Amino acid sequence: MTLAPLRLLKNEDRRLRAGHVWIFSNEVDNKATPVTQFEPGQPVLIEDAFGHAIGTGYVNPHPLICARLVSRDTKYILDQSLITHRLNIALSLRERLFDTPYYRLAFGDSDFLPGLVVDRYGDVLVAQITTAGMERLKGEIVGALEKVLKPRAILWRNDASVRELENLPRYVEPALGEVPETIVLEENGTKFEVPLASGQKTGWFYDQRMNHARARVYAKAKRVLDVFSYLGGFGIQAAHAGAESVTCIDSSEKAADFIRRNAELNDVGNKVNVVVDDAFDALRRLRTERQHFDVVVIDPPAFIKRKKDIKEGTEAYRRLNQMAMQVLAKDGILVSCSCSYHMERDSLRNEILKASRHIDRSMQIVEEGHQAPDHPVHPAIPETAYLKVFFARVLPS
Ligand code: SAH
Repeated sequence: MTLAPLRLLKNEDRRLRAGHVWIFSNEVDNKATPVTQFEPGQPVLIEDAFGHAIGTGYVNPHPLICARLVSRDTKYILDQSLITHRLNIALSLRERLFDTPYYRLAFGDSDFLPGLVVDRYGDVLVAQITTAGMERLKGEIVGALEKVLKPRAILWRNDASVRELENLPRYVEPALGEVPETIVLEENGTKFEVPLASGQKTGWFYDQRMNHARARVYAKAKRVLDVFSYLGGFGIQAAHAGAESVTCIDSSEKAADFIRRNAELNDVGNKVNVVVDDAFDALRRLRTERQHFDVVVIDPPAFIKRKKDIKEGTEAYRRLNQMAMQVLAKDGILVSCSCSYHMERDSLRNEILKASRHIDRSMQIVEEGHQAPDHPVHPAIPETAYLKVFFARVLPS
């Protein structure tokens, strides 16, 4: 198959040769190969300014990231066979990592499948496409997933807001079989009932698995507060691991409903208390009531979605961490998470420190966490490393 070329400007091949896979629209030689001439998602042969092939990829004239390198070997284009091959490589990592089939099977660029995320819930898969190049291949993706895993059902959760950058519509629809409304998964020995089509993102935050596991250690026989709880990833596991009592806070009624169900599912209904409220309001109220907890987890949604939100978002992280420390008991553990790529690890550490100084506490960082290994990091793409967690011991000054 001869592919249409996409020619880069002089020196704009350097980043690709150094390992990256994104091409920005201002890097293309628009005289030789106007980006606008391509169909969204069209496969292309990516060339440097001298016409030497760099690899194959796909293009979309709309977004700033107008093309992605798919293979450095020009023999291969993104088709069902390459997707199958890469899913198998992704699967073999997960099978080494985990005993049970509940994990992120494919994490986009990091698994050499740019624009595709697949979460596995046993024999049900939830997939999400974020680029036109992948959208064109929906049938091939389903075919490849059937080959690799023979799933009972596949759901498209193609409702992420980033799809708008690619001019793609947002929708949720079954791709294969009868997709159940909920599914029960097991994480670190605790069971969770998870809504698939109507849950957050793809249903479950597998990226927090290792941090959920570490938080269990600090929770035994303690009073635990899990703020931004979602289905109780931290809170229910803490209760299951032997916490004395657990309070979960989330602003979503639906999430609260599932926290209660998950508490029952693990026989810890008697020690889990659910509060439906805004996190900031609830923390303020707990402080006024002089309530204290031995472990406080804060796992907010990304406060910084774009670079221009850095200042405001950083301030929100500081405020939240301070409020969390104000309801910590004397020798307490703060588990502070940020999933904002733009909030750098050093910056989060610094805001936590500032918050502790502001209320005259001393602090030790006991552990640091990041995204679980089924969310591998692409070493050339810093955006693929996004989750930061500090386990901090907060003491009187
Ligand atoms: N801690 C969870 C994941 C949290 S996802 C886990 O480990 O699995 C973020 C959660 O924050 C969502 O459930 C969302 O409903 C909730 N949320 C968002 N804004 C909120 C707010 N202002 N107050 C309370 N909860 C909020």
